[in-house]
Amino acid sequence: MRPSSPTVLVRFLLAVAMLVVAAVVAGFFTARGGPVPSAANARGYVAEDRPPVRVTPTTPTPEPTTSSRAGAPRPTRVEQAEELLTRQAAAVTSETKAAYLATIDPEGAAFAQTAERTYDNLAKLDVAAYTFGQLQEDVGALAHARRKQLGDTAWVADVEVEVTFKGSDPEPWRYEQRLVFVERDGVLYLAGDREGEETKRSKPIWLEAEINVLRGKRSLVFGTGSKSRLRPYVTAADRAVPRVTNVWGEFWAQYVVVVVPKNQGQMERTVGTDAGSQSAVAAVTTSVGRSHPELASHIVVNPSTFDNVGDLGRLVVLTHEITHVATHATVTGMPIWLSEGFADYVGFRDAGLSTAVVAQEVLRDVRENGAPKALPSTEDFDPSSDGLDEAYEAAWLACKYLAAHWNEQKLVAFYRAMNDASSEAARTAAYRTVLDTTPAAFLKGWRAYVEEKAGN
Ligand SMILES: [Zn+2]
Repeated sequence: MRPSSPTVLVRFLLAVAMLVVAAVVAGFFTARGGPVPSAANARGYVAEDRPPVRVTPTTPTPEPTTSSRAGAPRPTRVEQAEELLTRQAAAVTSETKAAYLATIDPEGAAFAQTAERTYDNLAKLDVAAYTFGQLQEDVGALAHARRKQLGDTAWVADVEVEVTFKGSDPEPWRYEQRLVFVERDGVLYLAGDREGEETKRSKPIWLEAEINVLRGKRSLVFGTGSKSRLRPYVTAADRAVPRVTNVWGEFWAQYVVVVVPKNQGQMERTVGTDAGSQSAVAAVTTSVGRSHPELASHIVVNPSTFDNVGDLGRLVVLTHEITHVATHATVTGMPIWLSEGFADYVGFRDAGLSTAVVAQEVLRDVRENGAPKALPSTEDFDPSSDGLDEAYEAAWLACKYLAAHWNEQKLVAFYRAMNDASSEAARTAAYRTVLDTTPAAFLKGWRAYVEEKAGN
């Protein structure tokens, strides 16, 4: 299972990467308890530059302040907080750091540092739009120790944040923040943005650490560390994008976002998976953190493995993942052997590696036991499956067979048809309409192809 040669290591890493895609996506939908809400659910506040609002203490009943018009109801603390967030959003999009920092609790030095880091990160990412949804106050959510620290005026609310960057990543990102507000001398401030949250809750990396941002011809790369650390990812992504276009065609964004965390732990927090679960993963494609998963996904690398697979390995891995991005594989209902086999087909195409090398595990099995009875199933791609390598290799050989027996255009057309099919009947029909065959005949042909490649 733990191969020694770099080539097979890539093969292994790819295999696990694919599984994680499915796991992450499933978790995303489960965590949200159903369909992903549309952006229309999130109320976007108009960004205006306004001075801080004088707020009044909640107890005891105060004298009217100079800022309250006589007879007019005072704004609730939620309304005051929304006004604060409006100013903060305006500060982000207009890149006025002082106005942003003016919303932060002056007595909370640690959070002030975090807030400044977040602001600087967003400035590097070049924000086109930044909006807060409706505040959901959570009475009683503040931990006892924090209540003692922040005082009686502190309170907690959840809010959805949506951010869109300028440039070629036009699809918005969305995430929840658990905010805590506090009053100082009658003025409301933000005193925290992940109050009492579990650290494994998925967060964009720009909330986690200081980042750098690089823009390639066909890529946006951001992550921790120096720009020179990020440069190789830009180079590899810019090379990988045209490799995908060569097969898939030009009708996709031809642009990819690559997130480079500091280490595996940060990668796991970024994609919202369990700590320690991604040890053998080189990279994942995910829609976690996107407002419209059907329209946008991005790649998150695991530097502790990705950095060790060599130039060719990185190119193959990124091409595989970018194929998922281009085909919106995070939301597909097609058989997994096709989505993973196709991504491998594109990844290994023209990579200069022989079938005997790329498919060595499954071909060894075939020599001993004959061809598999069926195309690899979802269970075969389970991370705990003993035949994980074999499943990926078998899926790759199925796409190789299709391209060899028909041609590459038919492979792409079949992928598109299966991607569009929404029922088992429609998927069966795709065999007939695109390939003029049946699932049974395809299986028979693939098994003969695999036997032939094994030299049986
Ligand atoms: Zn994959």
